[in-house]
Amino acid sequence: MSLYLPSRLPNVGTTIFTVMSRLAAEHDAINLSQGFPDFSPSPLLLERVTHHMVAGANQYPPMAGVPALREAIAEKVARLYLADYDPESEVTVTAGATQAIYTAIAACVRSGDEVIVFAPVYDSYVPGIELNGGHAVFAHLRFPEFKPDWDEVRALITPRTRMIIINSPHNPSGAVWSADDMAMLESLVRGTKIVVVSDEVYEHVIFTRSGDARARHESVTRYPGLRERSFVVSSFGKTYHVTGWKVGYCIAPRALMAEFRKAHQFIVFTVHHPAQLALADFMREQPGFADDLAAFYQAKRDYFRQQMEGSRFALLPCDGTYFQLATYAAISDETDTQFVQRLTKAHGVAAIPVSAFNPDGEDRRVIRFCFAKNETTLAAAAERLRTL
Ligand code: PMP
Ligand code: GLN
Repeated sequence: MSLYLPSRLPNVGTTIFTVMSRLAAEHDAINLSQGFPDFSPSPLLLERVTHHMVAGANQYPPMAGVPALREAIAEKVARLYLADYDPESEVTVTAGATQAIYTAIAACVRSGDEVIVFAPVYDSYVPGIELNGGHAVFAHLRFPEFKPDWDEVRALITPRTRMIIINSPHNPSGAVWSADDMAMLESLVRGTKIVVVSDEVYEHVIFTRSGDARARHESVTRYPGLRERSFVVSSFGKTYHVTGWKVGYCIAPRALMAEFRKAHQFIVFTVHHPAQLALADFMREQPGFADDLAAFYQAKRDYFRQQMEGSRFALLPCDGTYFQLATYAAISDETDTQFVQRLTKAHGVAAIPVSAFNPDGEDRRVIRFCFAKNETTLAAAAERLRTL
């Protein structure tokens, strides 16, 4: 007897990051698709995780995360954004930002609720909403600046709007929301029951435009009217070059966090113990590491952009994240999906088609390169890209 299983996610295939990394491996291409560094984390971090494994931290840690790491997170947020979170009741360590986002959705969204997301949209949000019976409603970040259109957002808010999910600095565009954007959002949700999930995984990766001062990260934690209703999510994978460790966190006011933990304890219960202790040690011993990350990635952005000079790709602005968008309209009429396949197979460089982030598949012939790579990798990729 065959078992017919109606899909809970009928329109979802395998994530584009897995598809492109697999294709890159099959064709031995330079992989600038999925976002991860090709360099090592700090030796100190590796020494610390080894130390804690050998020292015996190999059983379940506390459900919400080890106290030392929750304290380090609260201290960091207080130092950077002047916002106080109680490590005991308002900070939870998660299995990456992905689990934090999913758990916040699972804790809040009921069948029939609407959740506003901004397209291009990071690929895990909409499936998370739909698996929990919610309905994703799309606002649009306007090409090529990828700025929110607040009139559109205002018009999308209804009595059924349960949640708004935001992401600045933004994957894939590299756009960064301003203080005005945050003030607009704060005024739109005032007096409503809308909760916000703020995906701040690139909080430390914000660049300068030529001559300007570095833009500050506009965390929702800076805005009282947002902070009171927000789950703020970040990822140690991005900040400490350990995407494979899958450790992140969520912070939220006590009442929201209580609901979050009810779901968290049954979705994952708790997170890799020695990694948590190692991250806590590292944050205590090298508190400036995250502060230096912007300059570190800005140098990589600038190096990649300079290496791409003379190519027929047109590079879009990049104010944050470790992704650079480029249009290939001067090179080919192919769809972005066809183009990245050919780029990988025939030219040995893998990238992400931006249409994969658009619910309607809108295709502006723009692709995403990850520049979280050694200069030798970026130079070799650009050398190939300049031949197109
Ligand atoms: N949100 C965004 C915007 C991301 O880019 C990523 C990963 N690249 C995640 C969430 C997931 O982070 P993690 O690997 O910590 O689950
Ligand atoms: N967030 C990473 C990216 O944008 C990939 C994470 C994943 O593969 N799920 O490339």
